[in-house]
Amino acid sequence: MTFTFDVGSCTDRGRKRPVNEDSYALWLPSEPAEQARVGALFIVADGMGGHARGEIASRLAIETLAEELASLPPATPGPDVEAALRRAVQAANRAILERAAREPDKAGMGTTLTALRIVEQDDGAPGYRIAHVGDSRAYRLRAGTLELLTRDHTWVQLEVERGTLTPELARVHPFASVLVRAVGIEPEAEPDLLRGRIEPGDLYLLCSDGLTTALEDRELKDLLDATAPLQPLARRLVDAANERGGPDNITVVLLRAA
Ligand code: CA
Repeated sequence: MTFTFDVGSCTDRGRKRPVNEDSYALWLPSEPAEQARVGALFIVADGMGGHARGEIASRLAIETLAEELASLPPATPGPDVEAALRRAVQAANRAILERAAREPDKAGMGTTLTALRIVEQDDGAPGYRIAHVGDSRAYRLRAGTLELLTRDHTWVQLEVERGTLTPELARVHPFASVLVRAVGIEPEAEPDLLRGRIEPGDLYLLCSDGLTTALEDRELKDLLDATAPLQPLARRLVDAANERGGPDNITVVLLRAA
């Protein structure tokens, strides 16, 4: 694998919520060879539960996921990474349920979880594997086209797929943020598992819904600059969501293959 990766990240409470219940993590070994062998990992988790319980849930989910994946043998091939991601999401689900059972004031806390791991594919080229639960999102900007890779696990998304709501109405629907899948709520959490090849110049965005409820996809595309340094770009995306009122916590993780 010959690519190197640039990263940027930013999280913000926004302008309406008393605390930031989002969490994120990025692990990027500095050596390109290590990035392929050990695996780089990027995670966004959007906690829910109020009174900072969501922050505990999102942090616990990320810690558990990272711990589980740290035990993966080096150079784990693609399909095994997907199985490991699935097990790691289920371990995060159990960790939150167990904590809530031990501490009744934490009952009902949960989180979204969108995790992207870099893998080395059979031909030596880099690829990604994504595990996803909830309404945080993963996007890819490739050759000027922004593509949403994940599917929101929301009630309105199901209605859009059934044809009973338009995407435009779904955005402003009173139930727009009602999740049909989350981590830490039900006895089992089933992640969507996605895979793809990474091309040079690809820009990946992981974000919480505080970004995407404030900004539409075409606005995101205008803000995402294929060549800009990623740390200031992450800040710029968060600032743009705050300029729209910052109704929710906002988290952005950016990754570019160079
Ligand atoms: Ca949120």
